[in-house]
Amino acid sequence: METLTLPVFGQRITELPPVLHRRVASTPLPQPHLVHLNRSLAEQLGLDPDWLASDEGVALFTGNLPDALPTIATAYSGHQFGVWAGQLGDGRALMLGDLPGSNGRRMEVQIKGAGQTPFSRHADGRAVLRSSIREYLCSEAMAALGIPTTRALILTGSPAPVYRETVETSAVVTRVSESFVRFGHFEHLYHRGDHDALKALADFALRYHFPEQADLATPYAALIGETIARTARLIADWQAVGFCHGVMNTDNMSLLGLTIDYGPYGFLDGFDLAHICNHSDHAGRYAYNQQPQVALWNLHCLASTFLPMVGEDELVALLRGFQALYETAYLTKMRTKLGLTTQEGGDGALLEKLLMAMHGDRVDYTIFFRRLADFDALDTFNAPLRDLFLERELFDGWAVDYRARLAREPQTPVERRAAMSRVNPKYVLRNHIAEQAIRKARDEGDFGEVDRVFRCLSRPFEEQPEFEVYAGFPPEWADQISVSCSS
Ligand code: AMP
Ligand code: MG
Ligand code: MG
Repeated sequence: METLTLPVFGQRITELPPVLHRRVASTPLPQPHLVHLNRSLAEQLGLDPDWLASDEGVALFTGNLPDALPTIATAYSGHQFGVWAGQLGDGRALMLGDLPGSNGRRMEVQIKGAGQTPFSRHADGRAVLRSSIREYLCSEAMAALGIPTTRALILTGSPAPVYRETVETSAVVTRVSESFVRFGHFEHLYHRGDHDALKALADFALRYHFPEQADLATPYAALIGETIARTARLIADWQAVGFCHGVMNTDNMSLLGLTIDYGPYGFLDGFDLAHICNHSDHAGRYAYNQQPQVALWNLHCLASTFLPMVGEDELVALLRGFQALYETAYLTKMRTKLGLTTQEGGDGALLEKLLMAMHGDRVDYTIFFRRLADFDALDTFNAPLRDLFLERELFDGWAVDYRARLAREPQTPVERRAAMSRVNPKYVLRNHIAEQAIRKARDEGDFGEVDRVFRCLSRPFEEQPEFEVYAGFPPEWADQISVSCSS
């Protein structure tokens, strides 16, 4: 093997308290092949894309690793659907180590689907091609939208069968993140009463990920405060773009406020406040409009684990701050989506009136906001927008208010149009778009559609005539796509 091209991975994860990590060998998959490579991320990590795409690179990132390279699984616990679930952990994700990132922070690299670990709990340690494509595409779509997220570097497949509802084939996603620390890592240690390890975990986080907080007089309080603030901003980003995570269990929440664990997620097509993207979520615990409250609930779980380090009153005060942080972040985002550069007290009401009308008619969320850039204050009808509503008078009523509001804005229509097109994406990863890429890949072994979707979504705000097909309304069959946790 040409060792020259092998990246030198750091192993800082082993500085975590020993109870949190275990060295685990991957279980190789036969006949690995490349599904997709994220060349630009590879370059940012100082990796040679051509080597990654070579047989050696593909084998390595499918988990066919030299013995000398230690891989590590971590232990975490968590609350799933509101119930304490006990120990979970990396059941199918193995850390290869960390590499220098482009922003001066090191980036950790995990392969997901490369075999069982001590935390697999009788599951097979594998990932199917279907859900791996979904994770790969959405990670990068979110990054291009400017939403904090784990990244995806390379996606490989193998004909080895994996048994879900039906027999499927295996895949491995290599994901990259400044950190994979979850709320659940803290819960794991707190539940065991291991306060020394808890402090060590917090110190690790402060050292590598929160250096600004580490320098403050009360670093642990600053750390949890920063996670609360980042989570508030993350959820505001999700709500503003119409993203539903689907499984906001505490083990799927990142300490760094990143979107992590792409399972049964979904982007809103028609605007439906109570949209449930996860087929297994019968009660709608993780419905679109529940996400802010669930985030706060999850932050309560995390904050409890800080009790050995931060006073209870202070934690309560920090948690109380969440709602205002979220609302400010959300309204700020939504103002930009509406093309408003100034703030007025009535903006929240203006937005709510619009969203209620959109909800009533299930108006397509992405298309409405993209078209809103073309709102013409001199046009009584604004037919391209108005026609999205069944109850046109609801739109007309709102348009009167909006027109009046725009009249108090300093921007020219041309400036506003340009600004709005930079914040209202034309392309998002709608379920049917992912589904078409999956079907081509799974049924025909054709990964061209994965590549087209990937390229389109890497520039979500730009007009891309060749990808017009991804900007349209969802087809009727989109309603029937069922996404659940089985992945
Ligand atoms: P999730 O619902 O995807 O967040 O996963 C919850 C827990 O189940 C985590 O500990 C995962 O590592 C584990 N898990 C999910 N699928 C598998 C699998 N196929 N093999 C092993 N562990 C899994
Ligand atoms: Mg998970
Ligand atoms: Mg998952």
